[in-house]
Amino acid sequence: MQKIIIIGAGSAGLFAAYKLMENKQLEIKVIDKGPPVKNRHCELQKDYRYCSNCEPCRTLSGVGGAGLFSSGLLNLNPNIGGELSNLAGDEQKALELINYIDNVFVVNGAPKNIYQASQSQVKELQNKANSVGIHFIPITQRHIGTENAPKVISAIQKKLENNGVEFLLNTEVDTIRPNKIITTKGKEIKYDFCLVAPGRSGMTWLSEQMSEIGVETRYEPLDVGVRVEVPSTVMEPICSIARDPKFHIFTPTYDDFVRTFCVNHQGFVVQEVYGERNITTNGHSFLSERSNNTNFALLVKISLTEPLEDTTAYGETISFNCATLGGGKPLIQRLGDIRKNRRSKWSKLKNNFIQPTLKNVTPGDISMALPHRIFIDIIEALEKLDKLIPGVANNSTLLYAPEIKYSAKRVITNQFLETSVNNLFVAGDGAGLTRGIVAAALSGLIAAEGILKKCN
Ligand SMILES: Cc1cc2nc3c(=O)[nH]c(=O)nc-3n(C[C@H](O)[C@H](O)[C@H](O)COP(=O)(O)OP(=O)(O)OC[C@H]3O[C@@H](n4cnc5c(N)ncnc54)[C@H](O)[C@@H]3O)c2cc1C
Repeated sequence: MQKIIIIGAGSAGLFAAYKLMENKQLEIKVIDKGPPVKNRHCELQKDYRYCSNCEPCRTLSGVGGAGLFSSGLLNLNPNIGGELSNLAGDEQKALELINYIDNVFVVNGAPKNIYQASQSQVKELQNKANSVGIHFIPITQRHIGTENAPKVISAIQKKLENNGVEFLLNTEVDTIRPNKIITTKGKEIKYDFCLVAPGRSGMTWLSEQMSEIGVETRYEPLDVGVRVEVPSTVMEPICSIARDPKFHIFTPTYDDFVRTFCVNHQGFVVQEVYGERNITTNGHSFLSERSNNTNFALLVKISLTEPLEDTTAYGETISFNCATLGGGKPLIQRLGDIRKNRRSKWSKLKNNFIQPTLKNVTPGDISMALPHRIFIDIIEALEKLDKLIPGVANNSTLLYAPEIKYSAKRVITNQFLETSVNNLFVAGDGAGLTRGIVAAALSGLIAAEGILKKCN
Protein backbone atom coordinates (compact mmCIF):
# COMPACT_ATOMS: atom_id res chain seq x y z
CA MET A 1 0.00 0.00 0.00
CA GLN A 2 1.28 3.45 -0.84
CA LYS A 3 1.32 5.93 2.01
CA ILE A 4 -0.18 9.36 1.36
CA ILE A 5 0.13 12.16 3.88
CA ILE A 6 -2.02 15.25 3.58
CA ILE A 7 -0.98 18.17 5.79
CA GLY A 8 -3.98 20.43 6.45
CA ALA A 9 -7.64 19.44 6.85
CA GLY A 10 -8.95 22.59 5.15
CA SER A 11 -10.82 22.68 1.90
CA ALA A 12 -7.76 21.70 -0.21
CA GLY A 13 -6.74 18.78 2.03
CA LEU A 14 -10.27 17.41 2.51
CA PHE A 15 -11.09 17.45 -1.20
CA ALA A 16 -7.77 15.86 -2.11
CA ALA A 17 -8.57 13.07 0.38
CA TYR A 18 -12.09 12.79 -1.09
CA LYS A 19 -10.68 12.12 -4.53
CA LEU A 20 -7.88 9.88 -3.31
CA MET A 21 -10.20 7.65 -1.23
CA GLU A 22 -11.61 6.29 -4.51
CA ASN A 23 -8.36 4.30 -4.79
CA LYS A 24 -8.57 1.58 -2.14
CA GLN A 25 -4.88 0.73 -2.52
CA LEU A 26 -3.81 3.90 -0.73
CA GLU A 27 -3.22 4.50 2.96
CA ILE A 28 -4.31 8.10 3.50
CA LYS A 29 -3.56 10.17 6.61
CA VAL A 30 -4.82 13.73 7.04
CA ILE A 31 -2.81 15.66 9.62
CA ASP A 32 -3.92 18.95 11.14
CA LYS A 33 -2.56 21.03 13.98
CA GLY A 34 -6.09 21.98 14.98
CA PRO A 35 -8.91 20.00 16.62
CA PRO A 36 -11.90 18.15 15.17
CA VAL A 37 -15.01 20.15 14.25
CA LYS A 38 -16.78 19.44 17.54
CA ASN A 39 -13.93 20.98 19.55
CA ARG A 40 -13.68 24.10 17.44
CA HIS A 41 -16.41 26.02 19.24
CA CYS A 42 -15.12 29.22 20.62
CA GLU A 43 -14.98 28.71 24.38
CA LEU A 44 -15.72 32.34 25.13
CA GLN A 45 -18.74 32.68 22.89
CA LYS A 46 -21.65 30.32 22.64
CA ASP A 47 -22.09 30.64 18.90
CA TYR A 48 -19.79 30.43 15.92
CA ARG A 49 -18.66 34.05 15.99
CA TYR A 50 -15.00 34.84 15.97
CA CYS A 51 -13.15 36.08 18.98
CA SER A 52 -9.56 36.99 19.43
CA ASN A 53 -8.97 35.18 22.68
CA CYS A 54 -8.88 31.49 21.80
CA GLU A 55 -5.45 29.91 22.00
CA PRO A 56 -4.58 28.25 19.72
CA CYS A 57 -6.76 30.19 17.34
CA ARG A 58 -9.48 27.69 16.48
CA THR A 59 -11.03 29.98 13.94
CA LEU A 60 -8.37 29.12 11.37
CA SER A 61 -7.12 25.68 12.44
CA GLY A 62 -8.70 22.26 12.59
CA VAL A 63 -10.94 20.10 10.43
CA GLY A 64 -12.61 22.41 7.89
CA GLY A 65 -9.67 24.85 8.03
CA ALA A 66 -10.30 28.58 7.78
CA GLY A 67 -13.56 27.90 5.93
CA LEU A 68 -15.30 26.24 8.89
CA PHE A 69 -16.61 29.41 10.49
CA SER A 70 -16.93 31.34 7.26
CA SER A 71 -20.23 32.14 5.60
CA GLY A 72 -19.51 29.21 3.38
CA LEU A 73 -20.15 31.19 0.23
CA LEU A 74 -19.17 28.87 -2.58
CA ASN A 75 -18.02 30.79 -5.66
CA LEU A 76 -18.99 28.59 -8.58
CA ASN A 77 -17.15 30.62 -11.20
CA PRO A 78 -13.72 29.78 -12.68
CA ASN A 79 -12.69 33.44 -12.66
CA ILE A 80 -13.07 33.93 -8.91
CA GLY A 81 -10.71 32.75 -6.17
CA GLY A 82 -7.58 32.42 -8.29
CA GLU A 83 -6.82 31.54 -11.87
CA LEU A 84 -8.87 28.38 -11.84
CA SER A 85 -8.91 27.83 -15.60
CA ASN A 86 -5.10 28.05 -15.63
CA LEU A 87 -4.86 25.74 -12.63
CA ALA A 88 -7.21 23.19 -14.16
CA GLY A 89 -5.73 23.47 -17.67
CA ASP A 90 -8.75 25.10 -19.33
CA GLU A 91 -12.13 26.58 -18.47
CA GLN A 92 -14.09 23.44 -19.31
CA LYS A 93 -12.03 21.31 -16.93
CA ALA A 94 -12.28 24.02 -14.25
CA LEU A 95 -16.09 23.98 -14.59
CA GLU A 96 -16.16 20.18 -14.31
CA LEU A 97 -14.12 20.28 -11.11
CA ILE A 98 -16.24 23.11 -9.69
CA ASN A 99 -19.38 21.01 -10.36
CA TYR A 100 -17.78 18.01 -8.64
CA ILE A 101 -16.92 20.16 -5.58
CA ASP A 102 -20.36 21.75 -5.45
CA ASN A 103 -21.97 18.33 -5.69
CA VAL A 104 -19.86 16.99 -2.79
CA PHE A 105 -21.02 19.91 -0.65
CA VAL A 106 -24.68 19.36 -1.56
CA VAL A 107 -24.51 15.59 -1.03
CA ASN A 108 -23.06 16.30 2.40
CA GLY A 109 -25.82 18.69 3.44
CA ALA A 110 -25.22 22.11 1.84
CA PRO A 111 -28.47 23.96 1.03
CA LYS A 112 -29.78 23.13 -2.43
CA ASN A 113 -30.68 26.63 -3.65
CA ILE A 114 -28.14 28.68 -5.55
CA TYR A 115 -27.86 32.40 -6.19
CA GLN A 116 -27.82 33.16 -9.87
CA ALA A 117 -29.08 36.36 -11.45
CA SER A 118 -31.06 36.23 -14.69
CA GLN A 119 -29.28 37.30 -17.89
CA SER A 120 -31.39 40.46 -18.15
CA GLN A 121 -30.61 41.46 -14.53
CA VAL A 122 -26.90 40.88 -15.13
CA LYS A 123 -26.93 42.92 -18.30
CA GLU A 124 -28.80 45.79 -16.68
CA LEU A 125 -26.39 45.90 -13.72
CA GLN A 126 -23.36 45.61 -16.02
CA ASN A 127 -24.59 48.55 -18.11
CA LYS A 128 -25.32 50.66 -15.05
CA ALA A 129 -21.91 49.84 -13.55
CA ASN A 130 -20.08 50.57 -16.79
CA SER A 131 -21.76 53.96 -17.05
CA VAL A 132 -20.04 55.04 -13.80
CA GLY A 133 -16.70 53.41 -14.59
CA ILE A 134 -17.20 50.19 -12.62
CA HIS A 135 -16.96 46.65 -13.92
CA PHE A 136 -19.49 44.13 -12.54
CA ILE A 137 -18.55 40.42 -12.58
CA PRO A 138 -21.59 38.12 -12.48
CA ILE A 139 -21.19 35.00 -10.38
CA THR A 140 -23.17 31.93 -9.37
CA GLN A 141 -22.94 31.10 -5.68
CA ARG A 142 -24.16 28.67 -3.07
CA HIS A 143 -24.46 29.87 0.53
CA ILE A 144 -23.81 27.18 3.12
CA GLY A 145 -24.13 29.61 6.05
CA THR A 146 -21.83 29.85 9.04
CA GLU A 147 -24.13 27.75 11.22
CA ASN A 148 -24.36 24.93 8.64
CA ALA A 149 -20.70 24.72 7.62
CA PRO A 150 -19.63 22.64 10.67
CA LYS A 151 -22.38 20.05 9.94
CA VAL A 152 -21.38 19.80 6.28
CA ILE A 153 -17.68 19.48 7.09
CA SER A 154 -18.40 16.86 9.78
CA ALA A 155 -20.37 14.85 7.19
CA ILE A 156 -17.43 15.05 4.77
CA GLN A 157 -15.01 13.94 7.49
CA LYS A 158 -17.29 11.02 8.38
CA LYS A 159 -17.44 9.92 4.75
CA LEU A 160 -13.67 10.08 4.51
CA GLU A 161 -13.25 8.05 7.70
CA ASN A 162 -15.80 5.47 6.53
CA ASN A 163 -13.64 5.08 3.45
CA GLY A 164 -10.49 4.42 5.43
CA VAL A 165 -8.98 7.91 5.65
CA GLU A 166 -7.28 8.43 9.01
CA PHE A 167 -7.23 11.83 10.76
CA LEU A 168 -4.30 12.77 13.00
CA LEU A 169 -5.54 15.92 14.71
CA ASN A 170 -3.94 18.34 17.18
CA THR A 171 -0.73 17.30 15.45
CA GLU A 172 1.49 20.03 14.06
CA VAL A 173 4.03 19.22 11.38
CA ASP A 174 7.36 20.88 12.00
CA THR A 175 9.57 19.64 9.18
CA ILE A 176 9.01 18.45 5.63
CA ARG A 177 11.72 16.39 4.00
CA PRO A 178 11.75 14.21 0.87
CA ASN A 179 10.03 10.94 1.95
CA LYS A 180 9.27 11.96 5.56
CA ILE A 181 7.75 14.58 7.80
CA ILE A 182 8.50 15.31 11.46
CA THR A 183 5.89 16.61 13.89
CA THR A 184 6.60 19.25 16.53
CA LYS A 185 6.61 16.38 19.06
CA GLY A 186 9.47 14.75 17.14
CA LYS A 187 7.46 11.92 15.56
CA GLU A 188 8.74 10.91 12.11
CA ILE A 189 6.19 9.75 9.55
CA LYS A 190 7.37 8.30 6.24
CA TYR A 191 5.41 8.89 3.04
CA ASP A 192 5.32 7.82 -0.59
CA PHE A 193 3.38 10.98 -1.50
CA CYS A 194 2.86 14.11 0.54
CA LEU A 195 0.39 16.91 -0.15
CA VAL A 196 1.01 20.08 1.85
CA ALA A 197 -2.10 22.28 2.15
CA PRO A 198 -1.62 24.40 5.28
CA GLY A 199 -3.76 27.42 4.31
CA ARG A 200 -2.89 31.00 5.12
CA SER A 201 -2.27 30.20 8.77
CA GLY A 202 0.58 27.94 7.62
CA MET A 203 1.88 29.95 4.67
CA THR A 204 5.02 31.32 6.32
CA TRP A 205 5.90 27.90 7.66
CA LEU A 206 5.33 26.36 4.22
CA SER A 207 7.57 28.83 2.42
CA GLU A 208 10.33 28.29 5.04
CA GLN A 209 10.05 24.53 4.55
CA MET A 210 10.15 24.89 0.76
CA SER A 211 13.24 27.04 0.98
CA GLU A 212 14.99 24.46 3.23
CA ILE A 213 14.48 21.72 0.67
CA GLY A 214 15.27 23.90 -2.32
CA VAL A 215 11.78 24.35 -3.76
CA GLU A 216 11.41 27.70 -5.52
CA THR A 217 8.77 30.21 -4.39
CA ARG A 218 7.82 33.72 -5.46
CA TYR A 219 5.94 36.61 -3.88
CA GLU A 220 2.37 37.31 -4.96
CA PRO A 221 0.36 40.57 -4.74
CA LEU A 222 -1.33 41.61 -1.50
CA ASP A 223 -4.87 42.96 -1.05
CA VAL A 224 -5.21 45.69 1.57
CA GLY A 225 -8.08 47.92 2.51
CA VAL A 226 -11.04 48.11 4.82
CA ARG A 227 -14.27 46.34 5.65
CA VAL A 228 -17.21 48.57 4.91
CA GLU A 229 -20.50 48.32 6.83
CA VAL A 230 -23.72 49.94 5.64
CA PRO A 231 -27.44 49.47 6.35
CA SER A 232 -28.63 46.34 4.56
CA THR A 233 -31.35 48.39 2.86
CA VAL A 234 -28.62 50.25 0.95
CA MET A 235 -27.30 47.00 -0.54
CA GLU A 236 -30.66 45.25 -0.93
CA PRO A 237 -31.26 46.26 -4.58
CA ILE A 238 -27.83 44.88 -5.57
CA CYS A 239 -27.75 41.84 -3.27
CA SER A 240 -31.15 40.75 -4.53
CA ILE A 241 -29.48 40.34 -7.94
CA ALA A 242 -26.09 39.05 -6.79
CA ARG A 243 -25.61 37.63 -3.29
CA ASP A 244 -21.90 38.58 -3.26
CA PRO A 245 -21.53 41.21 -6.00
CA LYS A 246 -18.02 41.60 -7.39
CA PHE A 247 -17.20 45.13 -8.55
CA HIS A 248 -13.85 46.11 -10.04
CA ILE A 249 -12.78 49.75 -9.95
CA PHE A 250 -9.74 51.74 -11.10
CA THR A 251 -9.17 54.80 -8.92
CA PRO A 252 -8.74 58.26 -10.48
CA THR A 253 -5.66 59.47 -8.57
CA TYR A 254 -3.41 56.42 -8.67
CA ASP A 255 -5.15 54.28 -11.28
CA ASP A 256 -4.99 51.43 -8.77
CA PHE A 257 -7.16 48.32 -8.93
CA VAL A 258 -9.75 48.14 -6.15
CA ARG A 259 -12.40 45.44 -5.78
CA THR A 260 -15.30 44.54 -3.56
CA PHE A 261 -14.95 41.14 -1.97
CA CYS A 262 -16.88 38.88 0.40
CA VAL A 263 -20.16 40.79 0.63
CA ASN A 264 -22.15 39.64 3.65
CA HIS A 265 -25.71 40.79 3.26
CA GLN A 266 -27.32 41.14 6.70
CA GLY A 267 -24.12 39.71 8.11
CA PHE A 268 -21.58 40.44 10.81
CA VAL A 269 -18.07 41.89 10.81
CA VAL A 270 -15.53 39.72 12.61
CA GLN A 271 -11.88 39.79 13.62
CA GLU A 272 -9.31 37.55 11.98
CA VAL A 273 -6.35 37.00 14.27
CA TYR A 274 -2.92 36.01 12.96
CA GLY A 275 -0.91 37.22 15.97
CA GLU A 276 -1.03 39.67 18.87
CA ARG A 277 -0.47 42.71 16.64
CA ASN A 278 -1.53 41.07 13.42
CA ILE A 279 -5.29 41.40 13.54
CA THR A 280 -7.42 42.06 10.51
CA THR A 281 -11.16 42.15 9.87
CA ASN A 282 -13.41 39.92 7.84
CA GLY A 283 -17.11 39.22 7.63
CA HIS A 284 -19.60 36.39 7.65
CA SER A 285 -23.32 35.78 7.49
CA PHE A 286 -25.73 33.20 8.82
CA LEU A 287 -28.69 31.70 7.01
CA SER A 288 -30.85 31.99 10.12
CA GLU A 289 -29.60 34.97 12.16
CA ARG A 290 -29.47 38.28 10.35
CA SER A 291 -28.24 41.73 11.25
CA ASN A 292 -29.59 45.01 9.91
CA ASN A 293 -26.28 45.68 8.18
CA THR A 294 -24.37 44.52 5.13
CA ASN A 295 -20.58 44.40 5.13
CA PHE A 296 -18.03 43.93 2.38
CA ALA A 297 -14.29 44.21 1.88
CA LEU A 298 -12.91 46.99 -0.29
CA LEU A 299 -9.40 45.98 -1.26
CA VAL A 300 -6.51 47.57 -3.14
CA LYS A 301 -4.15 45.23 -5.00
CA ILE A 302 -0.49 45.86 -4.17
CA SER A 303 2.46 44.36 -6.02
CA LEU A 304 5.99 45.17 -4.89
CA THR A 305 9.31 45.02 -6.67
CA GLU A 306 12.83 45.82 -5.44
CA PRO A 307 14.02 46.45 -2.82
CA LEU A 308 11.02 44.93 -1.00
CA GLU A 309 9.18 42.15 -2.79
CA ASP A 310 7.81 40.67 0.40
CA THR A 311 4.13 41.67 0.30
CA THR A 312 3.42 39.79 3.54
CA ALA A 313 5.98 41.86 5.45
CA TYR A 314 4.39 45.02 4.05
CA GLY A 315 0.89 43.84 5.01
CA GLU A 316 2.07 43.02 8.52
CA THR A 317 3.40 46.55 9.03
CA ILE A 318 -0.04 47.91 8.09
CA SER A 319 -1.76 45.48 10.42
CA PHE A 320 0.74 46.37 13.16
CA ASN A 321 0.04 50.11 12.68
CA CYS A 322 -3.70 49.56 13.01
CA ALA A 323 -3.38 47.30 16.05
CA THR A 324 -0.93 49.71 17.70
CA LEU A 325 -3.22 52.70 17.20
CA GLY A 326 -6.21 50.58 18.20
CA GLY A 327 -4.64 49.24 21.40
CA GLY A 328 -4.60 45.69 20.04
CA LYS A 329 -7.91 45.93 18.19
CA PRO A 330 -8.89 46.89 14.63
CA LEU A 331 -9.88 50.52 14.07
CA ILE A 332 -13.34 51.73 13.19
CA GLN A 333 -14.23 55.13 11.74
CA ARG A 334 -17.37 56.81 10.40
CA LEU A 335 -17.00 58.07 6.86
CA GLY A 336 -18.43 61.38 8.10
CA ASP A 337 -15.56 61.68 10.58
CA ILE A 338 -13.05 60.90 7.83
CA ARG A 339 -14.57 63.71 5.77
CA LYS A 340 -14.21 66.08 8.73
CA ASN A 341 -10.61 64.93 9.32
CA ARG A 342 -11.33 63.81 12.88
CA ARG A 343 -11.11 60.50 14.68
CA SER A 344 -14.25 58.60 15.64
CA LYS A 345 -15.23 58.11 19.29
CA TRP A 346 -17.71 55.77 20.96
CA SER A 347 -19.65 58.81 22.23
CA LYS A 348 -20.34 59.86 18.61
CA LEU A 349 -20.68 56.34 17.25
CA LYS A 350 -23.47 55.50 19.66
CA ASN A 351 -25.67 58.05 17.92
CA ASN A 352 -24.65 56.88 14.46
CA PHE A 353 -27.45 55.86 12.11
CA ILE A 354 -25.82 52.45 11.69
CA GLN A 355 -24.38 50.50 14.64
CA PRO A 356 -21.28 48.29 14.23
CA THR A 357 -21.81 44.53 14.38
CA LEU A 358 -18.22 44.11 15.62
CA LYS A 359 -17.79 45.82 18.99
CA ASN A 360 -14.28 44.61 19.77
CA VAL A 361 -12.77 47.55 17.87
CA THR A 362 -11.34 50.97 18.69
CA PRO A 363 -12.85 54.10 17.19
CA GLY A 364 -9.97 56.04 15.73
CA ASP A 365 -8.44 57.60 12.64
CA ILE A 366 -7.89 55.19 9.77
CA SER A 367 -5.94 57.78 7.79
CA MET A 368 -3.18 57.52 10.42
CA ALA A 369 -2.92 53.76 10.05
CA LEU A 370 -3.27 53.04 6.34
CA PRO A 371 -0.66 54.20 3.83
CA HIS A 372 -1.80 57.41 2.09
CA ARG A 373 -2.13 55.79 -1.31
CA ILE A 374 -4.33 52.96 -0.02
CA PHE A 375 -6.43 55.38 2.02
CA ILE A 376 -7.05 57.61 -1.02
CA ASP A 377 -7.83 54.58 -3.20
CA ILE A 378 -10.45 53.39 -0.70
CA ILE A 379 -12.18 56.75 -0.39
CA GLU A 380 -12.21 57.26 -4.17
CA ALA A 381 -13.53 53.74 -4.77
CA LEU A 382 -16.31 54.32 -2.24
CA GLU A 383 -17.30 57.58 -3.93
CA LYS A 384 -17.46 55.75 -7.27
CA LEU A 385 -19.49 52.90 -5.79
CA ASP A 386 -21.92 55.43 -4.35
CA LYS A 387 -22.89 56.39 -7.88
CA LEU A 388 -23.94 52.80 -8.52
CA ILE A 389 -25.23 52.01 -5.01
CA PRO A 390 -26.57 55.25 -3.56
CA GLY A 391 -25.97 55.44 0.18
CA VAL A 392 -22.78 53.38 0.27
CA ALA A 393 -20.74 56.51 0.91
CA ASN A 394 -23.10 58.15 3.41
CA ASN A 395 -21.52 59.90 6.38
CA SER A 396 -22.83 57.10 8.63
CA THR A 397 -20.98 54.37 6.69
CA LEU A 398 -18.52 52.52 8.92
CA LEU A 399 -15.00 51.58 7.84
CA TYR A 400 -13.01 48.95 9.76
CA ALA A 401 -9.25 48.79 9.23
CA PRO A 402 -7.42 46.84 8.26
CA GLU A 403 -8.81 44.15 6.02
CA ILE A 404 -5.86 42.30 4.54
CA LYS A 405 -5.81 39.33 2.25
CA TYR A 406 -2.29 38.01 2.56
CA SER A 407 -1.07 36.13 -0.42
CA ALA A 408 1.09 33.22 0.38
CA LYS A 409 4.33 32.92 -1.54
CA ARG A 410 3.56 30.97 -4.67
CA VAL A 411 5.21 27.57 -4.60
CA ILE A 412 6.54 26.71 -8.05
CA THR A 413 5.10 23.41 -9.29
CA ASN A 414 4.25 21.50 -12.41
CA GLN A 415 0.67 21.36 -13.76
CA PHE A 416 -0.32 18.71 -11.18
CA LEU A 417 1.04 20.88 -8.36
CA GLU A 418 4.04 18.64 -7.74
CA THR A 419 7.09 20.55 -6.56
CA SER A 420 10.65 20.00 -7.73
CA VAL A 421 10.94 17.44 -4.90
CA ASN A 422 9.68 14.13 -6.24
CA ASN A 423 6.20 13.16 -4.91
CA LEU A 424 5.85 16.32 -2.83
CA PHE A 425 2.69 18.23 -3.83
CA VAL A 426 1.15 21.48 -2.59
CA ALA A 427 -2.39 22.90 -2.77
CA GLY A 428 -4.63 25.66 -1.50
CA ASP A 429 -4.23 29.17 -0.18
CA GLY A 430 -1.04 28.42 1.77
CA ALA A 431 0.84 27.62 -1.42
CA GLY A 432 -0.25 30.90 -3.02
CA LEU A 433 -2.38 29.04 -5.56
CA THR A 434 -5.90 29.98 -4.52
CA ARG A 435 -8.17 32.23 -2.50
CA GLY A 436 -11.42 30.69 -1.42
CA ILE A 437 -13.10 27.45 -0.47
CA VAL A 438 -13.95 26.16 -3.96
CA ALA A 439 -10.64 27.28 -5.46
CA ALA A 440 -8.65 25.58 -2.68
CA ALA A 441 -10.75 22.43 -3.10
CA LEU A 442 -10.11 22.52 -6.85
CA SER A 443 -6.36 22.70 -6.31
CA GLY A 444 -6.63 19.75 -3.89
CA LEU A 445 -8.39 17.75 -6.60
CA ILE A 446 -5.68 18.58 -9.14
CA ALA A 447 -2.93 17.48 -6.76
CA ALA A 448 -4.91 14.31 -6.03
CA GLU A 449 -5.15 13.62 -9.76
CA GLY A 450 -1.40 14.10 -10.00
CA ILE A 451 -0.81 11.63 -7.17
CA LEU A 452 -3.23 9.08 -8.65
CA LYS A 453 -1.52 9.37 -12.03
CA LYS A 454 1.85 8.60 -10.46
CA CYS A 455 0.42 5.75 -8.38
CA ASN A 456 -1.02 3.94 -11.39
C1 LIG B 1 -13.51 34.70 8.31
C2 LIG B 1 -13.31 34.03 6.99
C3 LIG B 1 -14.37 33.98 6.10
C4 LIG B 1 -14.20 33.38 4.86
N1 LIG B 1 -15.28 33.29 4.03
C5 LIG B 1 -15.18 32.63 2.87
C6 LIG B 1 -16.31 32.39 2.05
O1 LIG B 1 -17.45 32.73 2.40
N2 LIG B 1 -16.11 31.78 0.85
C7 LIG B 1 -14.88 31.36 0.44
O2 LIG B 1 -14.77 30.80 -0.66
N3 LIG B 1 -13.79 31.53 1.22
C8 LIG B 1 -13.91 32.13 2.42
N4 LIG B 1 -12.82 32.28 3.22
C9 LIG B 1 -11.52 31.77 2.74
C10 LIG B 1 -11.48 30.26 2.86
O3 LIG B 1 -11.80 29.89 4.17
C11 LIG B 1 -10.09 29.79 2.47
O4 LIG B 1 -9.81 30.26 1.18
C12 LIG B 1 -9.99 28.26 2.45
O5 LIG B 1 -10.33 27.75 3.72
C13 LIG B 1 -8.58 27.82 2.08
O6 LIG B 1 -8.49 26.45 2.17
P1 LIG B 1 -7.09 25.73 2.43
O7 LIG B 1 -7.39 24.28 2.50
O8 LIG B 1 -6.10 26.19 1.45
O9 LIG B 1 -6.57 26.25 3.85
P2 LIG B 1 -7.24 26.28 5.28
O10 LIG B 1 -8.73 26.19 5.17
O11 LIG B 1 -6.67 27.43 5.97
O12 LIG B 1 -6.76 24.94 5.98
C14 LIG B 1 -5.41 24.71 6.28
C15 LIG B 1 -5.30 23.78 7.47
O13 LIG B 1 -3.92 23.43 7.62
C16 LIG B 1 -3.61 23.32 8.98
N5 LIG B 1 -2.17 23.52 9.17
C17 LIG B 1 -1.44 24.64 8.89
N6 LIG B 1 -0.15 24.44 9.18
C18 LIG B 1 -0.05 23.18 9.67
C19 LIG B 1 1.04 22.40 10.16
N7 LIG B 1 2.28 22.87 10.20
N8 LIG B 1 0.76 21.16 10.60
C20 LIG B 1 -0.50 20.66 10.58
N9 LIG B 1 -1.55 21.36 10.13
C21 LIG B 1 -1.33 22.59 9.67
C22 LIG B 1 -4.45 24.42 9.62
O14 LIG B 1 -4.68 24.11 10.99
C23 LIG B 1 -5.73 24.41 8.78
O15 LIG B 1 -6.75 23.65 9.39
C24 LIG B 1 -12.95 32.85 4.49
C25 LIG B 1 -11.88 32.89 5.39
C26 LIG B 1 -12.04 33.45 6.63
C27 LIG B 1 -10.90 33.44 7.59
